[in-house]
Amino acid sequence: MSTRKVYYFDNNATTRVAPEVVETMVPFLTEFWGNPSSAYRFGAEVHKHVDAARARVAALVNADPREIVFTSCGTESNNSAIHSALAVNPSKRHVITTAVEHSANINFCEYLQKRGFEITFLPVEPDGSIDIHLVESSIRPDTAIVSAMWANNETGVLFPIEEIAAICRSKGVLFHTDAVQTPGKLKIDVKAMGADFLSLSAHKLHAPKGIGMLYVKRRTKYQPYVIGGHQENGRRGGTENVANIVGFGRAAELAMASLAEENTRVRGLRDRLEGTILSTIPNTLRNGSRDHRLPNTTNICFEFVEAEAILLKLDLLGICASSGSACTTGSLDPSHVLSAMGLTPMRARGSVRFSLGMYNTDEDVDFLLKHLPGIIADLRAMSPLNPEHPDNDKYDVEAARAKHEQDMAQSLGDRP
Ligand SMILES: *Cc1c(COP(=O)(O)O)cnc(C)c1O
Repeated sequence: MSTRKVYYFDNNATTRVAPEVVETMVPFLTEFWGNPSSAYRFGAEVHKHVDAARARVAALVNADPREIVFTSCGTESNNSAIHSALAVNPSKRHVITTAVEHSANINFCEYLQKRGFEITFLPVEPDGSIDIHLVESSIRPDTAIVSAMWANNETGVLFPIEEIAAICRSKGVLFHTDAVQTPGKLKIDVKAMGADFLSLSAHKLHAPKGIGMLYVKRRTKYQPYVIGGHQENGRRGGTENVANIVGFGRAAELAMASLAEENTRVRGLRDRLEGTILSTIPNTLRNGSRDHRLPNTTNICFEFVEAEAILLKLDLLGICASSGSACTTGSLDPSHVLSAMGLTPMRARGSVRFSLGMYNTDEDVDFLLKHLPGIIADLRAMSPLNPEHPDNDKYDVEAARAKHEQDMAQSLGDRP
C-alpha cells in the first residue's frame, strides 16, 4: 500500500485508530492472551481488563456496566436490538424505522419483511428531519419496536430521539437508536434519553473495526442474536474480542475528552469548508438542515456533475470523501437518504459528503479548497448536464436553488 499523505474527509465511514488506543491494545495481543472466561488467573486477569473497558464504555453513554453488551460491530448491534424485540414479543410483528437509516437497519428490515413481518419506513422532510407526529400515529397495538437513528451518517442530520423515546414509552413500545455517529460529537446520556437499546461501533470513534456495543436498558427482556456460550452475561455468544474491547474502552475515554474540540475546532473547519464551497463554487447546495446536525459533517450537491467523477479526481490527489454511504459505492443508484429527502436523482448523484474529525487540520481544508473549484469547473465543462452546455435544455439555476432553500427552510419552520 502507498504511504503518501492522505487528506481524509471520510470520518463517518471509519476513523484512524488513535495511537493511545493501539498502545492500550498491544499487551492483549502479545502477553495477555488468555481466555477471559477461564477460571485460572491467566484468564481472570484478562477478565478484569474487559470489565474495566466495559465500565469505560458505559461511562461514555451514562449507563451501568451491566447494561453494555459487546458485539462485533454496529450492524450486529442494530440487528440484535430489533431481533430481540420481535423474539420476546412473538405476538407483535410490526417494526417502525425510517427511510434514511444505515443499510444495517434498512436491509435487515427488508429481510424481515420478506419473512412476513410488517415494516413501516417513515419518510423524512426535505431537510432530513422527521415529523414526530408521524412516529406517534404509526404506532399500532402490534408494534414491537421503533428504531430511529440519532445522527444520519450521510448528512449529519439529528433526529429528536428524546421526544421519540418519550412517545414510545407512553405507548409501551420498545425504542432503539443507532447512535453510531454520535460519540465524541454529542453528549450521550441513555438515562436522560430513555431509550431501551442504543448501538455504537468502535471504528467510528478511533478504535479498531470489528467491535461494537449494544446498550440494553436494565430489566429489558433480551433474546440473544448470536447464540452460543454464556459470554456477555448470556446475551452474546463468542469468546470476547479482548484486545478490541480494551481498545474500545480507551477510545470511549478519548471521545468524552474530545467533545469540546469536535464542537469548536472541528466544527469551525467544517463550517469554513462548507461556507467557502457554497460561496465560491456556483450551483452548489447544502443537503440537510444546517442547524440540527453533527458538527463534523457536510453534504453538498454540485449540480450538473457526477459525484463519482469528483471523487475519482479527488482520489488522484490523495483526498478521501464519499458519495453517500460507503456501502453503496460501486453502485450507480443514488443515495437512499438523499432520495428520501426528495432530491432528484440527478442532484443526489451529484452530492458529496465530507466528514471531518479530530485529526483534520487547517492545511487539509486549504488543500481541498485549493483543488475543488478547478475539479468542478473541469467536469462541468465536459458535462452535458451543464446548463451552459450546447446540448442542454434551458435550466433556471437561480430558481432551482431558491426553491431548494425554501423547501428546507419551510420544513424547519413546520417543526413542532
Ligand atoms: C457505520 C455505521 C453503522 C455500521 O457499523 P459497523 O460497525 O460498520 O457495522 C451503522 N450505523 C451507522 C449510522 C453507521 O454510520
